[in-house]
Amino acid sequence: MDNVTASEVAGMAVGALLLAATVAAPRVDAFISASQRRSLRMCSRCGDLRVIPCSKCGGAGVVSGGGLLFGLPFLPNPSDERSATAARPPCPECRSKGRIPCPLCSGKLPSSSSPLP
Ligand SMILES: [Zn+2]
Ligand SMILES: [Zn+2]
Repeated sequence: MDNVTASEVAGMAVGALLLAATVAAPRVDAFISASQRRSLRMCSRCGDLRVIPCSKCGGAGVVSGGGLLFGLPFLPNPSDERSATAARPPCPECRSKGRIPCPLCSGKLPSSSSPLP
């Protein structure tokens, strides 16, 4: 009785573990990649790209939705055929580049004094 119960519990535990592993896989993968970057002395945020996708516009370079325009005295020029495009203001965060300097690396050049293994 006890053996059956124990094996059942073990089976449930393994099932739960597999489920948890499946659910947590992306996070674990992200964690591992971050730790790998760290072990490689790469920036854990940008991987030494020095830039990261702009979180404000999602890398699109323009603010979607035009929410910033509401409340601003913005009058689209009716003669401008590209007023639709102009209605989407460039992202002020990344200046329509879609990328922003990595907050962990920006202005912090790799120190030449840090010895590499
Ligand atoms: Zn970085
Ligand atoms: Zn942006």
